[in-house]
Amino acid sequence: MTMRTDGEKFVLALDQGTTSCRALAVDVKGRIAATAQREFTQFYPRPGWVEHDASEIWTVQKDVLDDAVRKIGGADKIAAIGITNQRETLVLWDRQTGEPVHPAIVWQCRRSTAICERLKEAGHEAMVREKTGLLLDPYFSATKLTWLFENHPDLRDRAAAGELLFGTIDSWLMWKLSGGTRDAGARHLTDITNASRTLLFNIHTRAWDDDLLALFGVPRAILPTVVSSSETYFEARIGDVSVPVSGVAGDQQAALFGQGCYAPGDAKNTYGTGCFLLMNTGATPPTPEHGLLATIAWEIDGTVTYALEGSVFVAGAAIQWLRDGLQLIAKASETQALAESVPDTGGVYFVPAFTGLGAPYWQPDARGMITGLTRGTTRAHLVRAALEAIAYQTRDIIGAMAQTANLPLPRLRVDGGAASNDFLLQFQADLLGIPVARSAIQETTALGAAFLAGLAVGFWKSRDEIATLRQSDGTFTPDMAETE
Ligand code: ADP
Repeated sequence: MTMRTDGEKFVLALDQGTTSCRALAVDVKGRIAATAQREFTQFYPRPGWVEHDASEIWTVQKDVLDDAVRKIGGADKIAAIGITNQRETLVLWDRQTGEPVHPAIVWQCRRSTAICERLKEAGHEAMVREKTGLLLDPYFSATKLTWLFENHPDLRDRAAAGELLFGTIDSWLMWKLSGGTRDAGARHLTDITNASRTLLFNIHTRAWDDDLLALFGVPRAILPTVVSSSETYFEARIGDVSVPVSGVAGDQQAALFGQGCYAPGDAKNTYGTGCFLLMNTGATPPTPEHGLLATIAWEIDGTVTYALEGSVFVAGAAIQWLRDGLQLIAKASETQALAESVPDTGGVYFVPAFTGLGAPYWQPDARGMITGLTRGTTRAHLVRAALEAIAYQTRDIIGAMAQTANLPLPRLRVDGGAASNDFLLQFQADLLGIPVARSAIQETTALGAAFLAGLAVGFWKSRDEIATLRQSDGTFTPDMAETE
């Protein structure tokens, strides 16, 4: 079906996620006018290992792009393209042919655990943390690259000879969109938010760092040129039309932007399988403590904005466990009415530390527990305790962030699947003592990429204009006695 859009134009957001590729057309009012989505293959070659096929990612991404373009009535309707992506995942390809030389190693992949341990034992973590704001963890890209070079000496030699190119997924998509081969003039770029997740980028000097390159054994020749999050990088050929590609940010940073968190102290939480919290901390890099990460939120017009980031490993997944593990409920959506059917948890507390505890505790060996059970405990109490646990964990991270950044938090903006639960958001507001504002548009990540791209080409004039586009789906205000 083709929509009638007359002369209307759209910004197209490419949202390259961990399990699917999506393309969304955003109109000038910030509404989603068309979407297309397709999943791609996950590879688990060994326990704890996760790989993607970068060529498949490109094919699927291009398919959904074409689908979305058809839905809006042609490529001449696109004012600009923005990209947001799964972060940290590593792609290595041949500079000449443009073909990947190894499967993409996904952020979830734990194959470089031993390398991280080795580097920690050698006392390198403090330096890495100081320069990058991150931790020595397999999650980030650099040790995946170290692993590749240690296990494939041929790739190490070819990289040293300048024959290979490294990039995160944003980099790979920009390479492909700008031609895909050296002969076609393909561009080797990465945006600064993605660079800040590699462990190779110094967030203070805002450049690839020689000490880090030496530590991880990475030749400078394979690295992309770092660009800002909002500027015209190049024109992509879509059919026979040239379209500017003009906005890029990693998924969580894009969501922060899509949620309109433009002032220091503004924060967002995405309640999904886990929780992803980011707080805008302004123009100076924060010194992260309590297991929080410091990262680059975006760069626009030469100004860099920083963020603190923290995550909860098990949030909505605790609700899935009640459903699938205990079979206490049939659907996640039942939990709201069940939780509201009792005045409190009856003294039950649930710590869903199934995979250890993240920030601010960092106890990987911690495990879950349920305490305070009595003969009177019902499933409603357990469900309520599980929802409250999501809010308590969020509260712990927000507390650590506010303390670290020394910033007042005006409100918490929220999105994600579990944010549809009114009980959870009311309890969250009560616990934080600030309003919790739910976005009407769930696709805040894609929206952020669209906003960044649209700003660069004048589709929207300013962040102030974008802020007026935000569609709210309710604000939950604190309503609990201080003593409680
Ligand atoms: P992800 O992107 O991490 O896959 P989503 O944003 O799609 O996650 O959210 C899905 C998660 O939200 C699941 O873990 C599910 O248990 C939880 N969830 C969905 N609806 C509700 C609800 N009404 N109440 C509580 N949790 C919910």
